[in-house]
Amino acid sequence: MDMVIPKPMDVGVRDFLNRFDFSACMICGTCSNGCPVTGTPGMGGWDTRKVMRMLAYGMVDEVVDSKFPWLCTGCGRCAYSCPMGIDIPAVMGHMKSLRDRDKVPGSLHKGMANNLETGNNLAISKEEYLSGMAELGVEMAEECPGFFVPVDKQDAKVLFFPNSKEVYGDFEDQYWWWRIFYAAKEDWTVPSEGWEAVDWALFTGNYAGNKKLAKRKIDYMKQHNIERMIMPDCGGGSYGCRKGMDTCVLEDPNNEVGFIYLYDYLVQVIREGRVKLDKSVNAGRRFTWHDSCKHGRELARHFGKGFYDEPRWIVRQCVDDFVEMSPDRGLNYCCGGGGGMWPMPFEDESAWHARHKYDQIKRSGADVVVVGCSNCRDQIMKRIPKYYKDYKYEVKYLWQLVAETLILEPWEQDMVARAEAAAKAQWERLGVELDTTEY
Ligand code: SF4
Ligand code: SF4
Ligand code: SF4
Repeated sequence: MDMVIPKPMDVGVRDFLNRFDFSACMICGTCSNGCPVTGTPGMGGWDTRKVMRMLAYGMVDEVVDSKFPWLCTGCGRCAYSCPMGIDIPAVMGHMKSLRDRDKVPGSLHKGMANNLETGNNLAISKEEYLSGMAELGVEMAEECPGFFVPVDKQDAKVLFFPNSKEVYGDFEDQYWWWRIFYAAKEDWTVPSEGWEAVDWALFTGNYAGNKKLAKRKIDYMKQHNIERMIMPDCGGGSYGCRKGMDTCVLEDPNNEVGFIYLYDYLVQVIREGRVKLDKSVNAGRRFTWHDSCKHGRELARHFGKGFYDEPRWIVRQCVDDFVEMSPDRGLNYCCGGGGGMWPMPFEDESAWHARHKYDQIKRSGADVVVVGCSNCRDQIMKRIPKYYKDYKYEVKYLWQLVAETLILEPWEQDMVARAEAAAKAQWERLGVELDTTEY
């Protein structure tokens, strides 16, 4: 083997890496043992332990040029177990940040740039977005009289961020949250601009972008005097949003705004009796819960609280037959779609990563896997069955399960009339013409 001579390092990189004591690394390999990337075909034996050693020897360029950091989903399983507390996902994220932006794999950087420029990853125009919201609202109102999507509502209690893939194509996936808001008679709103829930800044190691996206949300909350935002469902989105918000608050404490995680929100509306559930609709099927790393392990590690008990409580309010996957909670395996792996051009590697998840699902014997993150959902619903075919299961969002289980009670006549008048005024104000006689 060639001798490795430690190289002089760029000052900025050295300062970042100095936050971690690589000399403390015992080369124990616990991180590599727990990391699903280990053994990825075609990676020539790269693993986290090797990367940590390379960085200790100053081989930053070699790591930055390699595919390894991009195969890291940021699931945090390595750091959870590292006896020396080295924040390996943060190191991988930093290696991503050192890549030239035109060499970021796939569409991630473009989506990120779109988001900063146009307010969403897919550069959907404001007109298209608003007319979609208006028309879908009219469709929804057939089942839920008085329903419409409130846009830029001043003093609303809850702010909700749509996910561009739903606004662009999977339109009806938005109905589940809307159904919950309708049943709970929530005072909610969405932004007319800068509405994207997903934050690819985190996935590309773009710290400046991450901060800008969080600040946009903070400014919107303040301008519209909104009580609290529901943190985006996407694991990366909510974790990225929390990170960016923290940076903004550190710079200026006036940037503090109210927020609530979707788990706490759902627990609240169920506990308060604002949403009533009928478990019988789910009888005869066995359900399991997939712990999203970014809502569990990583949130706990960085912010002191991961959502493990709340989603289980919510699922149990909806179903009688619940089983755990093994391992679960802090030791759960990532689905393989995180850190931008779902949209990145590394499908085989992502499927390799997912082998543990598939095995867990199969061993659970569940008919339905319930998830709390849109990345996890795409990966478990679309990519895993493409590669692993012998065990069949369904995938549902947690809020989909709640929306499908809730007992829908139409609003009183006067409330419907008030809502219809508000909808008419709103769409007129926003210049949206509805192709309908409703409202
Ligand atoms: S688990 Fe921690 S101490 Fe062990 S090899 Fe990995 S980074 Fe080093
Ligand atoms: S965060 Fe997950 S994927 Fe990344 S190195 Fe750690 S265990 Fe592996
Ligand atoms: S996609 Fe889901 S399971 Fe995978 S890293 Fe993200 S949150 Fe974790």
